[in-house]
Amino acid sequence: MRADCHIHMVLNGADWRGAIGRHRNGPDREWIRGRLREYAAAGFAYLRDGGDKWGVGAAAREMAGEWGITYRTPLAPLVCAGHYGGFIGEKYSDLREYAALVKQRREQGADFIKLMISGIMDFDRFGVLSEEGLPPEMIRELIHIAHAEGFAVMCHANGARTVQAAAEAGADSVEHGAYLDGDALGAMKESGTVWCPTLSAIGNLRGTGRFDEKAVSQIYESAAENVRRFAQIGGLIAPGSDAGAWAVPHVRGSADEYTHLADALGDVCLPALAAGTAAVRSSF
Ligand SMILES: [Zn+2]
Repeated sequence: MRADCHIHMVLNGADWRGAIGRHRNGPDREWIRGRLREYAAAGFAYLRDGGDKWGVGAAAREMAGEWGITYRTPLAPLVCAGHYGGFIGEKYSDLREYAALVKQRREQGADFIKLMISGIMDFDRFGVLSEEGLPPEMIRELIHIAHAEGFAVMCHANGARTVQAAAEAGADSVEHGAYLDGDALGAMKESGTVWCPTLSAIGNLRGTGRFDEKAVSQIYESAAENVRRFAQIGGLIAPGSDAGAWAVPHVRGSADEYTHLADALGDVCLPALAAGTAAVRSSF
């Protein structure tokens, strides 16, 4: 049984505007069905979606049972207005609006809450993120409110301080997690936060010429090194490819994640991923 704990059914691995356009007047169910069939044929039985605001993940969840796939979706991810993620998520401008959206997720049948709490990597410049993460006390409140509603929380988070704040607040999983340090890794281990390092979303950029090749390699190596360090301290690591992101096509990109993690972890890869996947499946 294989799992991909971080996919975006709404995206297609190539052209995000075109991908979203396909579903703008309602989810293209035939297209979704095709992807689910391919996932099932490749042995994937668990998919966790990062969410979208067009109902694509929800439509996939409805159909996934036909293929024996357990499918989890947060519905639309929640995004702090003015910060990264507005293209795919639903925005709130203060904690009151946020709390109302969390309640609404409950009524709409979300499986968990997905938070966007940081920017993304600048793939042309090693060590640089597109923006600062949200303030740690804000992160703590966001996670606390979602937990109080009974939801597990998946956090899109890059940068050591942002990830550390999320882990200390009890985030159930951290996605991407670029540029972590010992304190951030230790905080994730301490709170049982599962890390989906989405190595495919970095590693698959190598050799494409789209970004500075040296920077991409440095970003990839630093992520792989942190994955090794996290495994050494007994942290939970789950396969999540970011399928749908550029250069990460559905299914093939998901399989690539296992290869990237095996390259990083060597012999301990399979038992480590089994533990991480089990942790994701029990919380999400
Ligand atoms: Zn993602």
